Amino acid sequence: MDVKAFAALEAGGKLEEYHYQLPNLEDEQVDIKVEYCGICHSDLSMLNNEWGMTQYPFVPGHEIVGEIIAIGKAVENLKVGDKVGLGWMSGSCMHCHECMDGSHHLCSSLEQTIVGRHGGFADKVRAHWSWAIPIPAEMDISKVGPLLCGGITVFNPIVLSGVKPTDRVGVIGIGGLGHMALRFLKYWGCEVYAFSSNPSKKDAILKMGASKVINSRKPDDLDSIRGKLDFILNTTNVTLDWDSYLSTLAPKGKLHTVGAVLEPMQIPAFSLIMGEKSVGGSPLGSPALTRTMLDFCVRHEIYPTVEEFPMSQVNQALQHLEEGKARYRVVLKN
Ligand code: NAP
Ligand code: ZN
Repeated sequence: MDVKAFAALEAGGKLEEYHYQLPNLEDEQVDIKVEYCGICHSDLSMLNNEWGMTQYPFVPGHEIVGEIIAIGKAVENLKVGDKVGLGWMSGSCMHCHECMDGSHHLCSSLEQTIVGRHGGFADKVRAHWSWAIPIPAEMDISKVGPLLCGGITVFNPIVLSGVKPTDRVGVIGIGGLGHMALRFLKYWGCEVYAFSSNPSKKDAILKMGASKVINSRKPDDLDSIRGKLDFILNTTNVTLDWDSYLSTLAPKGKLHTVGAVLEPMQIPAFSLIMGEKSVGGSPLGSPALTRTMLDFCVRHEIYPTVEEFPMSQVNQALQHLEEGKARYRVVLKN
């Protein structure tokens, strides 16, 4: 099957039209006609080979929403015509301890949508049925794509870390992931503090549910909430003054990063020891939790704020994100 995609031929290169062939569909696979695809910062990091694992030609795109156009012989839960979403993960072994435990996103032989295979900046994409997540009929599919990577990446830590409605929570970096985190936490019931480096976002951030906006790059400003937060979610990939952030945690508090911070994080042991504090991280979330998140979004009408570009303008769209202009998630439309 011929796939029309957009690919970069080298690190940091412009994307250009690129065709490739998919072999015959395997029994447990599905093919999806891509209708929309969000752009995550990870697409940029992969495009620029910041993580050293990109293979070229490289077709980004892992916030996909579209329609099933073919199913393998063994697929029982999906049919042609179903609307589904596909995120960073496109396959897991289904028999290891983690898969049997429902934590397919921790499978040691994960297939990742844009690692060693081609992603959703294309007219079609292929996946194992387990990662093609059914989209509730009442959802607006033009805005669902970013929930499949950015959304579940910030929803999972809330569940994983047992964040309570009575908690005070901080979110660092109000971009694609961060703005979805603010919305989830508001409906979770938390008091939310936003840490942003961009003062022009302040009004929008307050409307999204934050009760206070603090400059993420000014350690002195963090003093005003010393010892107050139960949980901090970092969505930036830059080096910040982590010790100052640890000082804003209450005893037993946790600093959790989903941002792929490029440099090793400096965490002084005594900043953890004295208050029984901890530091953690996580990748996306399981298929089951992704469905739960979509139900939560339907219940509260939670969507990302999106800016739509036609797929043909993919290079302009990537540049818009790279320049920090996205408000708050760019989505490509086929
Ligand atoms: P994004 O839309 O570019 O947002 C990142 C935000 O970080 C920016 O909007 C900005 O927020 C803040 N920021 C950027 N440069 C900064 C600087 N120099 N100093 C302080 N703050 C800065 O990116 P995204 O798509 O949300 O992705 C965020 C990170 O999560 C990336 O590293 C991505 O690779 C990673 N990610 C991880 C997973 C996972 O499974 N763990 C999944 C998806 C993405 P302000 O303007 O508010 O400061
Ligand atoms: Zn992503």
